[in-house]
Amino acid sequence: MNSVVIGSGFGGIAAAIRLKAKGHNVTLVEKHKDLGGRARVFKRNGFIFDGGPTVITAPHLIYELFHLFNKNPHDYINIKPLDTWYRFVFEDGSKFDYSGNEENMKDQIKKIHQEDVIGYEKLVNFTKKIFDKGFTELSEVPFDNPSFMIKQIPALLNLKSYKSVYALVSSYIKNEKLRRLLSMHPLLVGGNPFTTTSIYGLILYLEKKWGIHYSIGGTGQIINGLEKLMIEENIEILKDKEVINIVSKDNKIIGLKLDNDKEIKTDNIICNADPPAVYSKLINSKKTNSIFNWKMRRMEYSMGLFVYYFGTKKTYENVEHHTIKFGDKYKEHLDDIFKYKKLNEDISYYLHRPTATDKSMAPDGHDCFYVLVPVPNNQSGIDWSIEGGKIKNLVIDKMEKSLLPNLRENIVEDFYLTPDYFEKELNTKYGSGFSIQPKFSQSAYFRFHNKSEIYNGLYFVGAGTHPGAGVPGVLSSAKVLDKIL
Ligand SMILES: Cc1cc2nc3c(=O)[nH]c(=O)nc-3n(C[C@H](O)[C@H](O)[C@H](O)COP(=O)(O)OP(=O)(O)OC[C@H]3O[C@@H](n4cnc5c(N)ncnc54)[C@H](O)[C@@H]3O)c2cc1C
Repeated sequence: MNSVVIGSGFGGIAAAIRLKAKGHNVTLVEKHKDLGGRARVFKRNGFIFDGGPTVITAPHLIYELFHLFNKNPHDYINIKPLDTWYRFVFEDGSKFDYSGNEENMKDQIKKIHQEDVIGYEKLVNFTKKIFDKGFTELSEVPFDNPSFMIKQIPALLNLKSYKSVYALVSSYIKNEKLRRLLSMHPLLVGGNPFTTTSIYGLILYLEKKWGIHYSIGGTGQIINGLEKLMIEENIEILKDKEVINIVSKDNKIIGLKLDNDKEIKTDNIICNADPPAVYSKLINSKKTNSIFNWKMRRMEYSMGLFVYYFGTKKTYENVEHHTIKFGDKYKEHLDDIFKYKKLNEDISYYLHRPTATDKSMAPDGHDCFYVLVPVPNNQSGIDWSIEGGKIKNLVIDKMEKSLLPNLRENIVEDFYLTPDYFEKELNTKYGSGFSIQPKFSQSAYFRFHNKSEIYNGLYFVGAGTHPGAGVPGVLSSAKVLDKIL
C-alpha cells in the first residue's frame, strides 16, 4: 500500500515510521529544507537553538519507534533525566524547585503553606486516576465513533472533567503560588489552566511517572536520529516541497500536488499539517457534513507564541535549565491572551537554558537561551512587525530585573519568532502555537478525527487531532493511526 505523510513534525515522522513497519511504501513530504516542524533547529554562529519542544517526557514513546525495526535507540539518541524539572520564580523573588523528589517537594510546600502538603498528596493520587483513564486507557485509541465517546462520559464525569485544571488543583490546594505552579501544565499544550478540562491534570502525573528528560545535543538530535532511521528503512523523504492540493474523487483521496507541479498518486494521505488549515486550504472539493461544519465554526484555537532566541557572551550559572516566571496578574494575562486577544505588559514567561545541562549548545564561555511568552494568536489582528520588537524589549527588561542581570549588554546573537511564523511558515491556522485548544469540547471525539470524517483515505496525526499537542500527544496520535490504517 502507498501512503504519503504531509509534514515532518514528531507526529508525521512517527506515523511514517509506524506505517513503514507495517509494510507500506511511505513517502514523507516536508515544506522546509529541514525536518521537525515545531521541533526544528536554528543554528547561528556556534549557538544551537531548539525551535520548540525542550521538555522531553515519556521517552519510551520515542524509543518504541526504533524498537519497531529492532534497532537500539541509544545508537541514535542520548536522552538523560533531569534532577530539577522546573524552577518557578514569583514576582516577589521567591522560588520553588519542582522535581520528582517527593520529600523535597513536600519540604518546599510546607514552607509556603503547611496544610497544603496533605492536599498535594491527595492531588497527586487523583491525577493518577486521571492518568490511568486519560493516558493509559484512552490516548492511543481512535475516537471516531460517537457511541464510544458516550461510553466514556460517566468515567470522565467521575474524574471531574467538567472542572478546569486550576479549579481541580484549587479544590486540594489553598495557597495561590502553589495553585499556579501545580496547575500550569495546560500551558505546555496550548491551553489556559482556567478553562482547560481537568483531564489534562494527567500531565502532572505523567511527569512523575516517567520523569523529565533532555536530549543531549538538543531535541533536534532526536529528529536527526529519527531521520537516520527513516533513511535506513527506505522511507522516501521529499524536503523543500510544499503540498498545495489534496486531490479527491467523489469521497476518496487519490493523490496530491506539490508546489513544483508534480503530482503523486496515493491510496492514503496522512496529514501532520494542521487539520483546520488542511480542511480549509488544501482540499478543493468542498464535501462536508453539517456536524463537521458546526465543529469547524466553533473551534477555539490555542494561544500564539512569541519566542526570543538569544546567546550571551557570559554564562548565568545560577539559572536552571527550565525556569517559569509568573507575572503578578497571572489570570488577567491569560484572559487577555485567550479571551480578549490583546497584549498585556505583566507577562509570565518560560526561560530555556540548555547550556545548564549541555555546554555543546553554545560556544565556550557562552550561554544559549530561548524565552517563550504566550501571546494572542492571529485572530487578534496584532501587527507583529510593530509589536514584536516591543515584546522583545519588554521581556529583556523583565529578565534583567529578575533572572539575568545586565542581559542586554551581554547578548551577542538573537532573533525572534511570532505567530506570523507559525501561520506562514508552519501553516497553522491563525498562527496558533499548538493547533486547537485542549478544552473538553475539543477533546477526543470532539477533536479533529484521526480518520477523516469526510474523506476516505485521509488521516490526521499531530497536535490538532486526538489525543492532542505536546510530544507525547503527537507520538500517541501515530499509535492511534497504527490501529486504523
Ligand atoms: C515553542 C514551543 C515549545 C514547545 N515546548 C514543548 C515541550 O517542551 N515539550 C513538549 O512535549 N511539547 C512542546 N511543544 C509542543 C510540541 O512541540 C508540538 O505539539 C509538537 O512538536 C507538534 O508536532 P506535530 O506532529 O503536530 O507537527 P508540527 O511540528 O506542527 O509539524 C507539522 C509539519 O508540517 C509541515 N507542513 C505544513 N503544511 C505543509 C504542506 N502543505 N506541505 C508540506 N509540509 C507541510 C510543517 O512545515 C511542519 O514541519 C512546544 C511547541 C512550541 C511551538
